[in-house]
Amino acid sequence: MKSKIYLSSPNMGGKEFEFVKEAFDTNWIAPLGPNVNGFEEDLQHYTGSAHAAALSAGTAALHLALILSDVKAGDHVLCSTFTFSASANPIVYQGAIPVFIESERDTWNASPVFLEKAIMDLIQKGKKPKAFILVHLYGMPAKIEEIKAICEKYQVVLIEDAAEALGSRYKGKHPGSLGEYGILSFNGNKIITTSGGGALLSNDKTKIEKARFLATQARDPAPHYQHSEIGYNYRMSNICAGIGRGQMLVLDRRVEQKRALYDWYKALLSATPGITFLPEPEGFLSNRWLTCILVDPALTQSISREDIRLAMEKENIESRPLWKPMHSQPVFRDAPYYGDHLSEKLFDQGLCLPSDTNIEEEEKNRIISVFRTLNLIR
Ligand SMILES: *Cc1c(COP(=O)(O)O)cnc(C)c1O
Repeated sequence: MKSKIYLSSPNMGGKEFEFVKEAFDTNWIAPLGPNVNGFEEDLQHYTGSAHAAALSAGTAALHLALILSDVKAGDHVLCSTFTFSASANPIVYQGAIPVFIESERDTWNASPVFLEKAIMDLIQKGKKPKAFILVHLYGMPAKIEEIKAICEKYQVVLIEDAAEALGSRYKGKHPGSLGEYGILSFNGNKIITTSGGGALLSNDKTKIEKARFLATQARDPAPHYQHSEIGYNYRMSNICAGIGRGQMLVLDRRVEQKRALYDWYKALLSATPGITFLPEPEGFLSNRWLTCILVDPALTQSISREDIRLAMEKENIESRPLWKPMHSQPVFRDAPYYGDHLSEKLFDQGLCLPSDTNIEEEEKNRIISVFRTLNLIR
């Protein structure tokens, strides 16, 4: 069996272990310590967000963002429909009701038009939404300015899910640094990883202090254990943060590598009728976390994205359909939805190609062979 080619696997830069070793040498084997503080500073500096809290997962960061936005049982919370379920699950943790917003063609991210429509409709029904979880999918920034203006107009808290967009830029700014809150993920498949982890970003110092308090079991200042609020165990370990500090040193390099891989695929498939890519609008820079294509069988002599996926699988090459939208997921079947069903079409025709920054020339040749076998290239 040929070695497996992954969609997106961890890629260490080399310095990670030095930070981890220092944690061992100083016995900081805990969910706090110099690496946690150092990693938070790195994230603040890199994203331009004034404050950051390192947490156990991106999902934990979203959950805390909702709590800090005062989301309670029965509240309505808007969320991009075209995303991974982790964006929406924390809404349900709070007993709140998710309301899904369809994507627009330019960015595949939430449409400002459907967003405003949803807010106006919900207000009319006496169910004004408290917050909006805006996802920057596959690294492509959403139209943040337009969306922020709508959120401000109706006083809806903007939470940016930038889990897939570390290293991207929107008009020179980092996604996740422009809303009231931003969240990042360092899960094993993301552009950089801490093996598992996440972060909450905000320019509001008191909010991040509150997040750190809630993430460490909400202990009141007392010599004994005293609690006036329900807390969580959501802090990042000092070991994981050490990996994160090492990974930050190679983040810009990883963005370059991901973007170069996207360009390689684009050159490879640009002449193939029926295969299209998502271009960057003016002023948008995507980290191209995963290279995605749309495959229109009407133009590819009936080759579908599933045909490509299966042909790759046979060669031990991992590829995957785009995210199945949340409003079509069985678990969210009762959730309100505003849109024109674009993401269902993206799901039907879309495929994520192997986007590993570890990829080797020989592996690229194996990918070329698959496209050749299917007669998609010569
Ligand atoms: C990975 C991901 C998350 C969740 O992050 P975890 O660190 O895995 O909890 C949230 N939203 C999106 C869009 C993601 O891709």
